[in-house]
Amino acid sequence: MSDRDPNCIFCAIVAGEAPAEILDSDEHTVTMMDINPATRGHALVIPREHSEDLLAIGEDDLCRTAAAAQRIAKRMEGTLEPDGFNLINSCRAAAWQTVFHFHVHVIPRYEGDPLKLPWIPRGAEMGEIAAIAATIRAGGD
Ligand code: 5GP
Ligand code: ZN
Repeated sequence: MSDRDPNCIFCAIVAGEAPAEILDSDEHTVTMMDINPATRGHALVIPREHSEDLLAIGEDDLCRTAAAAQRIAKRMEGTLEPDGFNLINSCRAAAWQTVFHFHVHVIPRYEGDPLKLPWIPRGAEMGEIAAIAATIRAGGD
């Protein structure tokens, strides 16, 4: 976690120096509309303090951002009446991250909307799954 990044568009929005359609804010978070909405109501929740991504953000800001995401989802539930939600976070370019200030997408979902599951579920041997689990566990905390 660090102070404001002068090249970061989300830091500029937090500072009130770039425009945004703000939905909600508190001491630690800001929630705004995404300018390229995937569905009607697509929002972004960000911590006020700049953290690049999931691996950089502190636990407190992560929890506050998750709580704000739930808060706006509940607000949407009563206003937009979606059929469901996806919360999405992309960490690093390989995982589609394009703005390097941690954010959670809150995407209301509607029956028949055009979004698709972004992976193809495939079967795997239980031995393969167990081996990968063992590799992850061996890393400790
Ligand atoms: P990512 O690709 O990093 O997961 O998500 C970045 C999101 O930020 C994209 O959905 C993009 O549409 C949105 N975005 C990029 N620039 C701006 C901006 O200036 N204002 C707002 N409100 N959203 C932005
Ligand atoms: Zn930033």
